[in-house]
Amino acid sequence: MMTYDYPLFRPPTEADNIIIQVTLGCSYNNCSFCSMYKTKKYQKRSLEDIYEDIVTFAASYPHAHKIFLADGDALALPTVTLVKILQYLQTSFVKLRRVSTYASAQNLLEKSKQDLELLQKNRLNLIYFGIETGNEIVLSKITKGVNQSDIIKSLNKVPKGMKISATVILGIAGVKYTKEHIIDIAYIINNTTINYLSTLQLWLEEDAKDNFYKHFNDFTPLNDIQILDEQKRFLELLNPTSKIIFRSNHVSNALHLSGTLPKDTDKLISQLDRAMIYLERSKT
Ligand code: SF4
Repeated sequence: MMTYDYPLFRPPTEADNIIIQVTLGCSYNNCSFCSMYKTKKYQKRSLEDIYEDIVTFAASYPHAHKIFLADGDALALPTVTLVKILQYLQTSFVKLRRVSTYASAQNLLEKSKQDLELLQKNRLNLIYFGIETGNEIVLSKITKGVNQSDIIKSLNKVPKGMKISATVILGIAGVKYTKEHIIDIAYIINNTTINYLSTLQLWLEEDAKDNFYKHFNDFTPLNDIQILDEQKRFLELLNPTSKIIFRSNHVSNALHLSGTLPKDTDKLISQLDRAMIYLERSKT
């Protein structure tokens, strides 16, 4: 019987899909706001163990068509290993349409364009990418390990056919850097091709707080109205190169929003304006 190595994380949209752990933990594991894999030492699982899991799942769900490769950044595996896994998945699940994984800028920068094209041809056709912020000072304060140009360069390496689902974190820059945070993320979105975009709201687990504040000692959190204002400024600055499916429906979000950009931008901004008026009035 197959058992997972916990904790196990996956994007909300992968809730109904098969999850195969090909790595354990995160190869970087150093972002100050993130405690997801702090209890795990990064490991590459052996191909034998991965194949065994695939066989077990295929016996129970032979018609599955979507698979998520965990843990934090399966893309850290060598391309040759990933291709073997993807090919094994294709022979085991005859209706397989989509394989997805989390990916970092570091992972993408370490791969060549040819590597990424090969992975996409072998059906790795969706990556989940945490942009978080585009501002250099904030990137450094959250110890993300990359700068703005790394993020843009990495996203622009992704081949056509491999979709990008990106997240940004509202509130992560605090009061002091909110203006630059939004301008600089919008710059990234406007200079790359993102297919799905979600805004989360900063939520620090207890075990992440000390480390976060140690690196970001001038951080003052935003209140709900300031978060909504940040989101409004973000939407106003977006000028995407192609259609983006936009979601702000994570449990962390003060207001749930969904739409297609740029078609629904004005509607989403009106919703944010109404929510801010409501919150202002409820204060009095
Ligand atoms: S945010 Fe992503 S890259 Fe950073 S430590 Fe957490 S899992 Fe790793």
